[in-house]
Amino acid sequence: MQSNPVSTNLMTGFPDERGHFGPYGGTFVAETLVSALEDLANAWKQVVPTESFQKEFRELLESYAGRPTRITFAKRLTDYANGGRIYLKREDLLHTGAHKINNCIGQALLAKHLGKRRLIAETGAGQHGVATATVAAHFGMPCTVFMGKKDVERQRLNVFRMRLLGAEVRAVDQGTQTLKDALNEALRHWVATVDDTFYVIGSVAGPHPYPAMVRDFQSVIGTEAREQMLTLLGKLPDLLVASVGGGSNAIGLFWPFLNDSDVKMIGVEAAGTGLNTDHHAATLAKGRLGVLHGTMSVVLQDEFGQTLPTHSISAGLDYPGVGPEHAWLREQGRVHYDTITDHEALEAFQLTAQREGILPALESSHAIAFALKAASELPKTATVLVNLSGRGDKDVHTVANALGISID
Ligand SMILES: *Cc1c(COP(=O)(O)O)cnc(C)c1O
Repeated sequence: MQSNPVSTNLMTGFPDERGHFGPYGGTFVAETLVSALEDLANAWKQVVPTESFQKEFRELLESYAGRPTRITFAKRLTDYANGGRIYLKREDLLHTGAHKINNCIGQALLAKHLGKRRLIAETGAGQHGVATATVAAHFGMPCTVFMGKKDVERQRLNVFRMRLLGAEVRAVDQGTQTLKDALNEALRHWVATVDDTFYVIGSVAGPHPYPAMVRDFQSVIGTEAREQMLTLLGKLPDLLVASVGGGSNAIGLFWPFLNDSDVKMIGVEAAGTGLNTDHHAATLAKGRLGVLHGTMSVVLQDEFGQTLPTHSISAGLDYPGVGPEHAWLREQGRVHYDTITDHEALEAFQLTAQREGILPALESSHAIAFALKAASELPKTATVLVNLSGRGDKDVHTVANALGISID
């Protein structure tokens, strides 16, 4: 069970000085942003590890976000799978209902330490926008959220939530009026306001140091889970499963286990209506090397390198890129990736509701669907830990629609 010290360094010694995970990662941005990102990388290395930062971070995660989150043994899902025992890491119990708040608290706190006065963010479906607006209100910082005009129209509830929290929502009417245009606008705005403004990115994507910094903030999930499973079972789980959009909840769970060579890990992407259709968001399964949002990673693109439109029943997995560290961990063979369709996720959503009394987020339902299949092929002594990244209340309308039921 001893882990090999060489592979230890191979797995957790990344990224390098310039933010590279092997061929992935790095900084692909306009000249004007380079020095701001260098300052941020220095802060990530020098401020985040200090005792005072860590103490404040921990206290906020406890008193405001509701950490530590529990581990629940999913007895009736386990009975259903009729194989390995399924456990759930309950990130759905956090304030605002998902893991995103961990990262937003970390970045807002870092903004405060750097003397930045206001926060900006971009959002697609609105979940990261709401989490950022939430911590901005808590810290008393003004907040502007960039959102494609089409998304503003589609996601009226989350737009109103952000406004209730005191944030300004700016509708971006360039291009396709969706997430990628919101992102470009947020970056442009950041260039002009970098002296007093902190840009909060919502997943392990974007230029260095964001992928590593967001990973560090989210790794509280795996650090807790590792201890909790040891206390609960006296041993580590055999398999970890998490959904992958940009990859922050997955890396947050996986990272503290990377040196435990007996622990297998699976990241689950959205296969939408199927990998053989154009309607999916399975970046690692179907993408290739490319630059998106300031980082080199695997990207869903056409033969001319144009980013492809994506589809998933879950808004949080509907992203054509993936964090560079995931591309790297796959290449090293340390983490494996698989896919789950809309239909399978929907079924897992209903099963979890009816057999556990938990409405899981549709993103998390992808992980559960995969875990059910995996557990059914494992012996009863095996244990599977699933990251239940968020609660499904936000998805009730989507689920009703998919089931052909009108609830309006
Ligand atoms: C945003 C979101 C995800 C996907 O984002 P990652 O960065 O891949 O974690 C998954 N689950 C929930 C509940 C989310 O809100």
